[in-house]
Amino acid sequence: MSRKPRRWRTEGVVLRRRDWGEKDLLLVLYTQQGKQIVRAPGARHPRSRRGPHLQPLHRVAVLLAYGREHPVLVEAETLTAWLAFREDVNRYAWASLVAELTDRFVWEGEHYPGLYDLLLRTLDAVARHPQPDWPVRYYELHLLGRVGFRPELQRCIRCGARVQPVNQYFSFEEGGVVCPQCAAQEPEHLLAVDVRTLKYLRHLQRSGPEAMWRPVPEPALRRRLGTILQGYEQSILEKRLRAPRVLKQLDIYPRPPESESPDEEQR
Ligand SMILES: [Zn+2]
Repeated sequence: MSRKPRRWRTEGVVLRRRDWGEKDLLLVLYTQQGKQIVRAPGARHPRSRRGPHLQPLHRVAVLLAYGREHPVLVEAETLTAWLAFREDVNRYAWASLVAELTDRFVWEGEHYPGLYDLLLRTLDAVARHPQPDWPVRYYELHLLGRVGFRPELQRCIRCGARVQPVNQYFSFEEGGVVCPQCAAQEPEHLLAVDVRTLKYLRHLQRSGPEAMWRPVPEPALRRRLGTILQGYEQSILEKRLRAPRVLKQLDIYPRPPESESPDEEQR
């Protein structure tokens, strides 16, 4: 086992940034090696050369150095700044959703093979696609799969029966399709899913990223598909949040240091 080098180069996408102390920035990057939180000392200084590169959704080349709490950003240079995200507020909003989902579903220190390339391909597609929501839906399904929450779309999550080409139900809590027979027995907390929406979900799930560019269904169907994915994502995030909240109530969950970041953003 080799020791971690004192300095290393990588590249990543800025998912999020917040002010840290008086002149620093704390950045959440998604890099080729996974999610990385880094501190950029002095990056908010008006004359900082690094600051202008460290904008959300920029793809940046960085030189990082070993730091006590977080790696320290030594150099940064923009590789891609998608112009479309600056010029088109709709595209910017979809790209921000991609960044936020990545930040919330991915753990620091975990490696998810291929996710960095998929993130770049998705941002590229969001910048250029006539319907930018479509590549985001593709990304959501595959992000969920990679982080261990692949929704079950082929078999009923309750009885295991193969899903038939008729209208079905979806359970956010159980993470998959529920067949009409099972739904009749326990219909609470289920969302009805029509056969065409399910067909598109399954198509996206089993396709490679070129599916982002195939013919896109009508807006109403895309909205229904979005409702399923967002409901499911919400349900996973709430479950995850529950554990720390209980611990907090019991007062054994570590509190953040009080003096560290007076100007912390409320998120
Ligand atoms: Zn069933």
